[in-house]
Amino acid sequence: MRPRDLSAHTPYAAGRGIEEVAREVGMDPDDLVKLSSNENPLGPSPKAAEAARAAVDGVNTYPKAAHADLREKLAARWGLTADQVWLANGGDGALDYLSRALLEPGDEVLVPDPGFAYYGMSVRYHHGRVNTYPLHKSEEFAQRPANVLDAYDGERIVYLITPHSPTGSEMGHDAILEVADGVDDDTFVLVDEAYGAYTDQPSAVSLMDGRDDVGVLRTFSKSYGLAGLRVGYILAPEAWADAYDYVNTPFAVNTLALAAASAALDDEAFVERSVETAAWAREYLYENLAAKTWESAGNYVLAEVGDGAAIQRAAQERGVIVRDCASFGLPECIRITTGTKEETRRAVEVLNEVVATVER
Ligand SMILES: *Cc1c(COP(=O)(O)O)cnc(C)c1O
Repeated sequence: MRPRDLSAHTPYAAGRGIEEVAREVGMDPDDLVKLSSNENPLGPSPKAAEAARAAVDGVNTYPKAAHADLREKLAARWGLTADQVWLANGGDGALDYLSRALLEPGDEVLVPDPGFAYYGMSVRYHHGRVNTYPLHKSEEFAQRPANVLDAYDGERIVYLITPHSPTGSEMGHDAILEVADGVDDDTFVLVDEAYGAYTDQPSAVSLMDGRDDVGVLRTFSKSYGLAGLRVGYILAPEAWADAYDYVNTPFAVNTLALAAASAALDDEAFVERSVETAAWAREYLYENLAAKTWESAGNYVLAEVGDGAAIQRAAQERGVIVRDCASFGLPECIRITTGTKEETRRAVEVLNEVVATVER
C-alpha cells in the first residue's frame, strides 16, 4: 500500500528555521538573525499574544462562536458580508479552499513566474494544472496586464499578487481591472495581498464591489506577527453566497488563533510600528547593500548577488539567514526580510562582507 503518485508534486521549500540553522552552524539561536521568511521582527502584536494566553483555558471546546465572531469582525472591517470571509488555517489554507471551490479535475490556472510556490501546489493537489505568466527582470519585474493576458488561455483562476514576492513590485487598480475585464466570465482573479499592509496602495477589496470574479487574500502572518498561529482568509464575491460552508474544514482556525487575530485587529499601533520598521529597513537596504536591489513595497528586498546559494551559505555561517531565490527561478538573487534596525544593520554588514569575498 502506497500513496498515490506524487512525483508531479513538490514539497514546499520554506525559509530555513532558526533552530535548524543554529544546530548546523554551531551557534546559539539567539545570536542568529533570521530574515528568510518575511516574518515580523517585532514579535506578535502584544495584545494578540495576551488574548491567545487568555484563551488557552477554553481549548476543550470547539471554536464555533469565535469563528463566527472573527468572520463578522473582518466583514465589518472590509465592508462586506460575513459569508464573504473565507477564514482558514493561514492564507495557504484559504488557497486550498479556493481550489476546492473552483476546480474540476484537469482545470488550469495561471500563476506568476517568479511567484509563490503554494498557488501551484494547492492546485495540483486538487487535480488541476498550472500555467505561468512571466514577470521580466529586464522590466524590473513590472506587473503589466499584457504579461498576464498574453499568457492567458481560458484558465479558471488567475493569481495576481501585490506587493509581489520575492520582487516587491506592485500592481495598481487599473492594471488589476484590465486583467479582470480581459479574461473570460468564468475566470476568477485572486489578488494576493499577503503584504498589503506594507504598501500605501489601497486594497483591491474596493474592486470587488458589483463583481463576481475578483477576490482578495489577506493573512495575519506578516504585519500582525502571527505566522505561527496560522490564520488568514480570502474575501470572496458576494454572489458566491454560502459556498464557503461547502469547502471549509470544520473549525479550521483554532481557538488561540481566533482570539489572537481578533485582538490583533484592534492593535493598530502595532501594525503601524511594523510598517514603519519595514519602510526604514527597505531604505537602509537600498542605500547600504553592495548589490543591485529592486524597490519593494513589502517587508523584504530582492538583491542580485551573483551566486545566491553561495551567499546564503556564507551569510548563514556568520549568523545571518536570508532566502536564496533559486526556488523562484532567480539563482542569482537573495531575498532579505526587513528586520529591526539592529538586525538589518547586522545583515547588511555581513552580506557586504560575503558579497565582497564569495566568488561571482
Ligand atoms: C505569507 C504569504 C501568504 C500567506 O501565508 P500564510 O502564512 O499561510 O497566511 C500568501 N501569499 C504569499 C505570497 C505569502 O508570502
